[in-house]
Amino acid sequence: MLKINIPAEDKRFDVLIIGAGPAGLTAAIYAARADLKVGFLEGSTPGGKVTSTDQIENYPGFQKVVGSDLALNMFNQATKLKAHYMYGWVDRINKDEDAKIFSVHTKKNETYFAKVVIIATGMKERTLGLENEKKFEYKGISYCAVCDGNLYANQDVAVVGGGNSAIQEALYLTKIVKKIYLIHRREQFRADAIMLDEIKSKSNVEMLVPYVVKAYVGDEKITGIKIQNLETNEERILNVACIFPYIGFNPSTSFLSNLDILNEQKQIITNKNKKTKIDGLYGVGDVTENDFRQITTANSDGTVAALDAIDYINKNAKSWSW
Ligand code: NAP
Repeated sequence: MLKINIPAEDKRFDVLIIGAGPAGLTAAIYAARADLKVGFLEGSTPGGKVTSTDQIENYPGFQKVVGSDLALNMFNQATKLKAHYMYGWVDRINKDEDAKIFSVHTKKNETYFAKVVIIATGMKERTLGLENEKKFEYKGISYCAVCDGNLYANQDVAVVGGGNSAIQEALYLTKIVKKIYLIHRREQFRADAIMLDEIKSKSNVEMLVPYVVKAYVGDEKITGIKIQNLETNEERILNVACIFPYIGFNPSTSFLSNLDILNEQKQIITNKNKKTKIDGLYGVGDVTENDFRQITTANSDGTVAALDAIDYINKNAKSWSW
C-alpha cells in the first residue's frame, strides 16, 4: 500500500512520459487508450526533432509528409485521448521503492508523481566545439535548416556531416540558398543511397570531402569558415553566411545520472520491452541504446513500453490506492 501521502489529483499520473517526440507521443496514445491517466512533460516544442524536418518520405502510409504536420497529428491524437500535456524541463527522478511511486522534479520546482515513468527525451545536437561557437549561435550557426534556411535565401551556406540528417537538410536548403558546400570528413557517407544520389544531382551543391571545419570566420556574425583537406592539409576559407552542422546527436540524459541506468555513451539501457532495471521505469526512442534511430523505430519503442507498462500497472494494481 502507498506509504507516502497521496499527491494532489493534478500532480499524479498512472503513466508520466518525459519528452513528446514520436516515441513519447506513441506511448501516450497507447497508455491513454488503456484508460490510464497519462501526462507528458516537454520542455521544448512538442513533436521532437520531427518538427524541424521538412519532407519525410519513409514513414509508411505517407509517400511524403511534412515533419511538423506529422508531429502535430501525433500530438493532437494524444491530447484528444486526454493525455495531459505539461510544459517543463525535468531535473531529477526518484523512486520510493516501498510505495512503487516515482517523483519527477522539474527545474521550476514542480513535482509530479507516477506509477510508471517513460523517458523519451531524445538527443541534442552535437556541436563542432570550435572557438566562438556560443558567440555565433543564431548569428551564422544553425542546427535547424527548416527553421532558419529562409534567413539565408540566395546566399552561400555550408552543411557539415555525412549522415541522413546532413543530406536531408542540405536537400531542403537547395531550394532556398544560392550554393551549399557540403563538408564531410571522409569519402564514405552514412546517408541512405537514395538521398545521396539526389544531393549529387543538385547543381547548387559542391561536395567537399575529406574536409573538416577548423574555425569560424567573422566579427559580429559569421562571414565564412576555415576548412582543411584531411589528405593534403591544405586550408581554405569559404565565404558563407551560415554553417549548419549535422554531425550527430548526444542523448539527453544528464538528469538521470542518479539512477544508474545509462551506458558509457550516456544512453539508457533497457530490455527488449524497453524497461530499465528499475521496475516501472522505461526508456524509448533515440535516448536508448537502439542501433537504428527512425521515426518508425521510435513509434515501435513507445508502443512496446506502453504495453509493458499497462501490464505492470495491472499486475501491481493493489500496490496503489489511486
Ligand atoms: P549520424 O548518422 O551519426 O551522422 C553524423 C555524421 O556526422 C557522420 O557522417 C559523421 O562522420 C559526422 N561527424 C560526426 N562527428 C563529427 C565531427 N566532430 N566533425 C565532422 N563530422 C562529424 O547522425 P544523423 O545524420 O544526425 O542521423 C542520426 C540518426 O537519425 C541516424 O540513425 C539516421 O539514419 C537517422 N535519421 C534518419 C533520417 C531519415 O531516414 N530520413 C533522417 C535524419 C536522421 P563519420 O561518418 O565519419 O562518422
